Amino acid sequence: MSEASDMQVNPQRAKQLAENIGHVAQMIGAANKANRKIRLVAVSKLKPATDILALHNPPTSQVDFGENYAQELTEKASLLPRSIRWHMIGALQSNKCRSLAKQIPNLWCVSSVDSNKKADELEKGRKALVEEQPGVGKTKLRIMVQVNTSGEESKSGVEPSDTASLCRHVRDKCPHLQLAGLMTIGAIARSKETTAETENEDFVALRETRDKVAQELGMDPSELELSMGMSSDFEGAIAQGSDEVRVGTTIFGERPLRKDAKVKGDTEEERK
Ligand SMILES: *Cc1c(COP(=O)(O)O)cnc(C)c1O
Repeated sequence: MSEASDMQVNPQRAKQLAENIGHVAQMIGAANKANRKIRLVAVSKLKPATDILALHNPPTSQVDFGENYAQELTEKASLLPRSIRWHMIGALQSNKCRSLAKQIPNLWCVSSVDSNKKADELEKGRKALVEEQPGVGKTKLRIMVQVNTSGEESKSGVEPSDTASLCRHVRDKCPHLQLAGLMTIGAIARSKETTAETENEDFVALRETRDKVAQELGMDPSELELSMGMSSDFEGAIAQGSDEVRVGTTIFGERPLRKDAKVKGDTEEERK
């Protein structure tokens, strides 16, 4: 791949992507009855850097993009403009955390933190970045704690009952990180049943966990954002109080199978 400056964006593809994200933005607006501020993270995992550039360029000027795999994120971030705000939303390996936070100055948020150790590694990486390049990475790296709201063993995330203690650790022990809120993926089966009318139990659980954490930490609930809702359920998530939705397929189309994706270096294990 080449630099963003000489990357070729196919005009037809760019037009299609702009239409798709415009449609999602309309749906968000329609679902957002309370007229809150809602962030749309465009989930670009396994999609080419040219798709991201097409949406980041005017007139769309989308700034928030989500990626799942450390290696893919690192590669894309090195090619694409610094004005992008990257969100790491995928399963994190502790041994990748430090370099992610250090190497990607425009890594804006890590949404999948589920242990003190991962928070500590991100803290070390961001501290090193600030010390080596004063002025770069001056703003704190935002952290969302991923909560396992569905109780499924296969899902990553902390248990609701352990969430406050991890949040406290990030807030009190990690000066280069900013506790931004809580994230859940939720069970697929439940998300299929979710409409704007029926409540999704995962989203109820995340909201309740947020309220408890706020109380235990002496914070106002509004200081902790909720990141919940994907292509299949983002309208319902907004109705239930989501502050951030992470939408991939509806914007970019179906993804290639993970094993076919052209990403070097990641192991199958971390792609689960
Ligand atoms: C892939 C992914 C998304 C986007 O999923 P879509 O169904 O394609 O919208 C959102 N959040 C996380 C954590 C993901 O891994």
